[in-house]
Amino acid sequence: MEKLYEGKAKIIYATDDSEILTTQFKDDLTAFNSLKKGMAQGKGAINCHISSVLFKLLESKDIATHFIDQIADCEMRVRAVKIIPLEVVIRNIAAGSLCRQTGLIEGKILPFPLVEFYLKNDELGDPLLTRDRLLILELASPKQLEQLQSIALKINKCLTEFFASCQITLVDFKLEFGLDSQGNLLLADEISPDTCRLWDQQTKNLRDRVLDKDRFRHDLGEVETAYQQVQQRILEKLGIRQRP
Ligand code: UDP
Repeated sequence: MEKLYEGKAKIIYATDDSEILTTQFKDDLTAFNSLKKGMAQGKGAINCHISSVLFKLLESKDIATHFIDQIADCEMRVRAVKIIPLEVVIRNIAAGSLCRQTGLIEGKILPFPLVEFYLKNDELGDPLLTRDRLLILELASPKQLEQLQSIALKINKCLTEFFASCQITLVDFKLEFGLDSQGNLLLADEISPDTCRLWDQQTKNLRDRVLDKDRFRHDLGEVETAYQQVQQRILEKLGIRQRP
């Protein structure tokens, strides 16, 4: 099938149906706007599975996503959407760029979930947008912006509760949205340890608790083991057997 797009962690292929695409998850890892590159054996399959399970969970809570089904270890079928070039970041606890840019101490519980919009543009280094910059760039209408904000908060509530039930704290995460051919707003891309900060509630040790891509970003090692841990806990919680 024709390759439509290759990103850092996924490849998108066309299918016979113009409304449906296939997403293939790769083992490649990148960080710091691709300045750091690596790979983790089996990561693609883990992220594909975690994303599939989380998309299904969100669908069950009436959140519209692009997910159709998982068709192979590293492949899912998704509805074709035009991606809105925004990275919607939701934060519950201060970490990463929020600490670097504001001086907030890592680990501070935020008084309310913070929804931020970044421009999806590698050349510009994905800058943080203001509401007015976003509107001036015509990345979304005021109504769509309200919609994005409220869906993001709904997803955050659902995922925070779910991860907590797996003894994992959802610190922050990034979402991407797209519009289908009818103009419906759908959650797209992926939700995985590549795109979330996840801290293990079963350990207080600051290094050991990291179950996400920060293990790769900061050379903490055992990336695969951490991702597997997230997958295992999610599947156990939902009573799903691991794909053989
Ligand atoms: N994130 C992502 N892709 C990006 C930027 C951020 O998935 O291009 C996720 C990241 O994994 C974290 C959250 O969004 O869960 C917030 O990231 P932050 O702005 O703190 O950036 P970082 O510290 O990674 O530079």
